[in-house]
Amino acid sequence: MEKKPIGIIGGSGLYNLEGLEVIEHVKVDTPWGEPSDEYVKTRYGERVIYFLPRHGRNHDIPPHRVNYRANIWGFRKLGVERIIGVSAVGGITKKPGDIVIPDNFLDFSKQRPLTFYEGKYTVKSEEFDIPAEEQDRVLLALFHGKVVHIDVSRPFCPQTREILIRAAGDVYVDVYPHGTYALMEGPRLETPAEIQFLKTIGADVVGMTMTTEAVLARELELCYAGINVVTNWAAGISTHKLTTEEVVATMRENTEKVKKILVRAFETWQDERLCLCKDALKGTVM
Ligand SMILES: [Zn+2]
Repeated sequence: MEKKPIGIIGGSGLYNLEGLEVIEHVKVDTPWGEPSDEYVKTRYGERVIYFLPRHGRNHDIPPHRVNYRANIWGFRKLGVERIIGVSAVGGITKKPGDIVIPDNFLDFSKQRPLTFYEGKYTVKSEEFDIPAEEQDRVLLALFHGKVVHIDVSRPFCPQTREILIRAAGDVYVDVYPHGTYALMEGPRLETPAEIQFLKTIGADVVGMTMTTEAVLARELELCYAGINVVTNWAAGISTHKLTTEEVVATMRENTEKVKKILVRAFETWQDERLCLCKDALKGTVM
């Protein structure tokens, strides 16, 4: 049986993995416009892996302007069922250099689209208009302009998280197997008071992208799990001004660890989905 492709969202450089062969760059159009960039199609052994740089290859798309819906829809069009999102985060209870596989989130986004299903305002597209017997739950809900209240009791895919946590153990990379990711809209960094607030309500790390991806993936019945690399202390915890140089430098230092986890995950991947993600729309469509 053909192995299912895996999707990775993360910074450029991640796909320079040993044993990974770049095949081509794939441009994908979606009913929501253009994804952040072309998808880098690579192969690890028998398996195809698609990489997408969240902020574009030139890092010219700020977090609040990333076309999250297009990015996630693009993976679906490429046949991806499981996505791993890699991102740099600020540390609230975790220190620079730590890696977290989050299992919960707090979402303080303000002005970005958070759903594919906008009822009567749902985008119209020929992509949704295919014979009824070929329509899955996602296409049906979109075609009929349904309203969906997706369940996020398990915010990140438990099975994909498990694969990542085990992979990290196998290659002796320490990761925190639990953690709460707080999303702030950005692109500015947070104030000390905001970080104190986030700490009080249980946040471990803070970032600007991941919860949006996780929710949109769930809405398409795709699996999504994250790898958070703590690149700096969050505001108020750090005693000095935060700079992007610091973030980039720490991310670079830790990219090797992330690559090790990813390679081991590719080797131990399970195609059969035992999680609830694949049925996420059941019972949630109005
Ligand atoms: Zn899943």
